[in-house]
Amino acid sequence: MTILDLIAQRRDGRSHDRAGIEMLVSGATGGSIPDYQLTAWLMAAYSNPLTLDETAWLTLAMAESGERMDLSGLPHPCVDKHSTGGVGDKTTLVALPILAACGATCVKLSGRGLGSTGGTVDKLASIPGFRLDLGPEEMRAIAATCGIALSGQSPNLAPADKVLYALRDATSTVDSVPLIVASILSKKLAVGAEVIVLDVKCGSGAFMRDREAAEELAGALREVATRIGVSCDTVVTDMDQPLGVAVGNALEVAEAMASLRGEGPARLETLAVELAARCLTAAGQGDLGSMRREAADALHSGRAAATARVWLSAQGADSAVVDDPWSVLARARVVREATWDGGYEFVERVDAGAVGRAVVDLGGGRRRKEDEIDPTVGVEVLVEVGDRLEPGQPIFRVHARTDGDAEAAEVQLRESLRSDVAPAEPRPILL
Ligand code: URA
Repeated sequence: MTILDLIAQRRDGRSHDRAGIEMLVSGATGGSIPDYQLTAWLMAAYSNPLTLDETAWLTLAMAESGERMDLSGLPHPCVDKHSTGGVGDKTTLVALPILAACGATCVKLSGRGLGSTGGTVDKLASIPGFRLDLGPEEMRAIAATCGIALSGQSPNLAPADKVLYALRDATSTVDSVPLIVASILSKKLAVGAEVIVLDVKCGSGAFMRDREAAEELAGALREVATRIGVSCDTVVTDMDQPLGVAVGNALEVAEAMASLRGEGPARLETLAVELAARCLTAAGQGDLGSMRREAADALHSGRAAATARVWLSAQGADSAVVDDPWSVLARARVVREATWDGGYEFVERVDAGAVGRAVVDLGGGRRRKEDEIDPTVGVEVLVEVGDRLEPGQPIFRVHARTDGDAEAAEVQLRESLRSDVAPAEPRPILL
């Protein structure tokens, strides 16, 4: 079997065996298969999607392509929560401390943002001193002190994904369900997760725009996770309006810290508690109802905030960020409020995709991988679907580098908001 055989098999819609997939992954990792042959295979796999068995073999081979973290000796269960990415999605920063406060261990690799959906790494990078370049040993040591360790992609963990993802990104082959599933699950396996809860976002601010596509991805993730022996639950959640008020890196950290103090927006708290509860349930700690109560108690008793202080300080940040974020985080130079210039109406839509694009244009996200981002800029979305609007009421607060940037963002943001004289139903976060 050669790579040419594999490309031809995929091109013609014939199936691979496990050995063929292992050969592909080891050739991608070791550099013996050149990029042009890997991309030919990726395009063929895009057109003739892998079966569930093939996806499971690919996931296992990618997880085995580098180091596998050994979390034995740390408190079990070892859990991970993953989101497919959305506008204003800072849930990881709330859910992980809740989980660790409930006795779980969370060792996590997170990504940088690309396009209008932000990345957890960029959010945490807005906290001065916070280190995101941890190797496996350091992650293990930090998790032993507080139950949490979070790093950017490590070159030693699932290196095959790094190679394949970069090629997919450059060849329009990212949005293939089996390739997404293998990419996500291989990294979770590499860090030793036994239980995974996947938050599949759906709507204008998400990778998956419609419900059917989101359900398909959620179903494939569950099926493949079962085949590779990982306990997995999925939720499909709303990303048609931004999650919470804050969109932009430092602003989102501040909002996540408010949530840990029990002062965050309701939809963010609901989602963080739900994801934590589902992780604990999937780990066999109890039924969903009692785990929801346990997760909510970890948040409201202050135990999650106490865990976050230890974690953030173990990774190099000033733990004062939990209680007084703006004593630690940098603020944008220009802050301007946009007010409602219509009549007495109701908010019908706040288009998450449009808000995300406005934040990218302010400098808070990347158009290309190499772009620098400004952690201080962003938007506070001061209304949500179902709210009553009154003339003169603040609807957005823009944080920008210049007055010109703020004005341009205000125009985009006004276009993202649709209103009606008839009341609209608030959008539930869990679909
Ligand atoms: N996130 C990943 O980690 N991989 C993908 O392929 C898509 C989203």
